[in-house]
Amino acid sequence: MVEIVQNGHPVLRETAQEVAPEEITGEKIQKVISDMKSALASQKDGVAIAAPQIAVPLRIFVVAGKIFDPVWEEGQEPENPEPDMVFINPVITKRSKTKKWMHEGCLSVRPLWGEVRRSTNATLEAYNEKGEKITRGAGGLLAHIFQHEVDHLDGVLFIDNARNVEEGPVPE
Ligand code: ZN
Repeated sequence: MVEIVQNGHPVLRETAQEVAPEEITGEKIQKVISDMKSALASQKDGVAIAAPQIAVPLRIFVVAGKIFDPVWEEGQEPENPEPDMVFINPVITKRSKTKKWMHEGCLSVRPLWGEVRRSTNATLEAYNEKGEKITRGAGGLLAHIFQHEVDHLDGVLFIDNARNVEEGPVPE
């Protein structure tokens, strides 16, 4: 099983390094991606994971395909999950001025939950796991995830900017 590191581990506070685009399809990076996917799949309430959370200081994050399943509810097994989405060297190129306090937790900051003010829409440029350049606009949960995950790559945890932080449930 791939271990998810917890707050206090120094790798979570590092600025993660860019991946050389020509190395994306190589064995080393593909192994990191598959480790991230299995770590994420092991967490019932996990919607995304960044490489530093498995102690790899690289600019990669993975979004669970289950969030694209229209009937999926948090904490439940997805019925029709889409493939997980991989974002490498992601850069948020646009953030809406409209912001909202959104409830969030983190697989590396168990068992805390809190509210963070996030843009409601965001556009991200990145490479996918095949090494292709992609641009993805998002609103709602996906925009929220983009901001949380890019923060991870800059050594920022949600508790740094959160209000009303309290302990919440952790699934078995
Ligand atoms: Zn997190």
